[in-house]
Amino acid sequence: MSPEEFREFGKQVVDWIADYYAGIESHPVRSQVRPGQVRAQLPAHPPEQGEPFERVLSDLESVLVPGVTHWQHPNFFAYFPANASGPAILGDLLSSGLGVQGMVWATSPACTELETVVVDWLAELLGLPEHFRTDAVGGGVIQDSASSAALVACLAALQRVSDGQVANQGITRRHTLYVSEHTHSSLERAARMVGVGADNVRIVDVDPNTLGMDPGHLDALIADDVAAGAVPTLVCATIGTTSTTAIDPVRAVGEVCRERGVWLHVDAAYAGVAAVCPELRWINDGVAEFADSYCTNAHKWLLTNFDCSVLWMADRRPMIDALSILPEYLRNPATASGEVIDYRDWQVPLGRRFRALKLWSVLRWYGAAGLREHIRGSVGLAQEFADWVRDDPRFELLEPHPLGLVCFRPLFPQLSAEDANDRTYRLMESLNDAGELYLTHTKVDGKTVLRLAIGSPQTERRHVLAAWKRIQEALG
Ligand SMILES: *Cc1c(COP(=O)(O)O)cnc(C)c1O
Repeated sequence: MSPEEFREFGKQVVDWIADYYAGIESHPVRSQVRPGQVRAQLPAHPPEQGEPFERVLSDLESVLVPGVTHWQHPNFFAYFPANASGPAILGDLLSSGLGVQGMVWATSPACTELETVVVDWLAELLGLPEHFRTDAVGGGVIQDSASSAALVACLAALQRVSDGQVANQGITRRHTLYVSEHTHSSLERAARMVGVGADNVRIVDVDPNTLGMDPGHLDALIADDVAAGAVPTLVCATIGTTSTTAIDPVRAVGEVCRERGVWLHVDAAYAGVAAVCPELRWINDGVAEFADSYCTNAHKWLLTNFDCSVLWMADRRPMIDALSILPEYLRNPATASGEVIDYRDWQVPLGRRFRALKLWSVLRWYGAAGLREHIRGSVGLAQEFADWVRDDPRFELLEPHPLGLVCFRPLFPQLSAEDANDRTYRLMESLNDAGELYLTHTKVDGKTVLRLAIGSPQTERRHVLAAWKRIQEALG
């Protein structure tokens, strides 16, 4: 594709995306295709001869779009938001255009240095502690996902607790990790991947009212494990659990970790970005004093296209010691001088995209004020929705709901608990099948509850109000 052809098709693609956003409400939110339907419309074999790009665009329209769930639709209330935005899309396109591999500083200095600046900027915007900054002993790095961030945190924790032995000899003792039943599944996967093993992931009780981790039980489990000869290695506290946005008491959990010499990883994948608003910074209470690592996803609620998960370390040394190897073909004077950062030592893969460009575009386009407005808009709509649910006696509202997620359930007083769960699930599926909105569910205390997550910049009050009307009607 020549630069002139690229210019022509590039304009068509940008127009296509702009039209897509302008008309996004005409699509059913959740794709209505049956399993295999998309695949059946695609050729089984790759083309022998190249095809005109128009044919890619026309297949996109006719074959793929019906199989797309529209995550940017204003009535997408499922899971958590995965925000896209104009500046992020354009920043990502520029990154694709440059096509650099930023594995070490020398392979593209701007890729590394811009990343350092934007993760430090983001730390400042979120009010995170000074020691997370790159000019201190800590530092931030953009990972593909919170799952990778958890894996890197586990590797750093194993490095620190074993004084480097695990990196060389592998796991020779029983290491234990601590989570609650509401911790994201990526922690158990990380335990499997690093060789700690799922059986050594200890489930700490939660306070039944707040669903937050019980620090007393954490301490008791750690004491038991030490007595049994295990090496307590990492505790994951969550700020904003995936199920209900419950918040673990990071300060109290951190005190246990400090006392026992255990690494504290804080997973704030969804909620952490809310701290751009000073009035929401209370969610991070205890992080500054106790977190060894902290992660939040700009790619959920902060207007930055997937993938962009930022991991900060209070001390970057254990991570780098765990992951740094210098093969001959990567030797270069800049690395040898020790004056530069090589982010390949801060992540699992070697290669890395220029992800900082899209986050930089977002931070510059919106500014701190624009980001706060976005978060406040979502939180305000969620509070309003919660008021409506609270005012309708046919529904039960789960408290608290400080962010963009509201959990609630219809009440079926005539039905057994099991049948009520079943009816709740079917009510949700009938709404989702109709295509006007998309909700997901979770279980709290054995009860099926619906989750309505507000966070799209497309979502206005009228969309939330219409969703509530639809939910009420569906109940009959
Ligand atoms: C979404 C989520 C994750 C996983 O995020 P990825 O970036 O997709 O790996 C982890 N933890 C919490 C609390 C989440 O909400």
